[in-house]
Amino acid sequence: MYSNIWRNFISAADKAANTVILAVGPVFIALAVGLIGLATTVYFTVVFPSFYVWDEDYIWTKIYYYLGLIFSIYMVVCIFFHYYMAVRTKPGGVLNVGTEQSDSNDPTIQDLFLELEEYQEYPKTCKKCHLPKPERAHHCSVCRRCVLKFDHHCPWIANCVGHFNHRYFLLFMTYLVIGCFYFALVGWKPFLLSLGETGWEWSMPRPYVALSFLLAVAIGLALGGMCSWHYYLIITAQTTVEFYNNQYARRTAKAKGEVYVNPYDLGPVLNLCQFFNVGRNL
Ligand SMILES: [Zn+2]
Ligand SMILES: [Zn+2]
Repeated sequence: MYSNIWRNFISAADKAANTVILAVGPVFIALAVGLIGLATTVYFTVVFPSFYVWDEDYIWTKIYYYLGLIFSIYMVVCIFFHYYMAVRTKPGGVLNVGTEQSDSNDPTIQDLFLELEEYQEYPKTCKKCHLPKPERAHHCSVCRRCVLKFDHHCPWIANCVGHFNHRYFLLFMTYLVIGCFYFALVGWKPFLLSLGETGWEWSMPRPYVALSFLLAVAIGLALGGMCSWHYYLIITAQTTVEFYNNQYARRTAKAKGEVYVNPYDLGPVLNLCQFFNVGRNL
């Protein structure tokens, strides 16, 4: 009896946590855009002009200045574009029937699949939304639906990372990590200056510059780790969910004296090509 109460409590807490994650999505997006926007403003008003010095007399400094400017604008456009696309692209649902309870007594498509689950030969269905579950699909308990090639639910994009937006998500992380390290590389002098009391010639207040630099270093390191982890998963043809399932399958196979082979693994290069949808069609 106590275990039932405990189980119900855990399930209610889990549901409440998922509802909170869903509700705070727009706040996280506003926070992410605000922080990236702050760092971008600091970069173009303080870091860039202090690193790329314009000199009328030298052609090379001018070329260097323009190359730096083109690279900087390109990075900012890529960061915001991929972030926007990761947020706005639907990760890929199974069937567009919704999961709300209908008021009428008519059986829904879920009811039909629930009945069919009784028959063992029927294709796999999701035990939570009672809809067909294609290979590599997984149920997101925050969005309360199955998502194709589900990786995880990311509160920072208020969206699942799945089949259709995984590429945007990864490229957003890649550009942001490069941007953070670049910021730290060319912005350490203004940062040190912002900590002092004198020699400040910029209109941007010192605390914003210090905060942006610290954010760039912290996010660059944290996201750099996560980004590397995702590249590892992609070159080994696994989603985050599959990684844990594959670990289990590998251990089980080893105990039987067998070797587990991931059926989606085509080799690092082809896995990468398939993920980025380049090269020959597979
Ligand atoms: Zn489901
Ligand atoms: Zn989700």
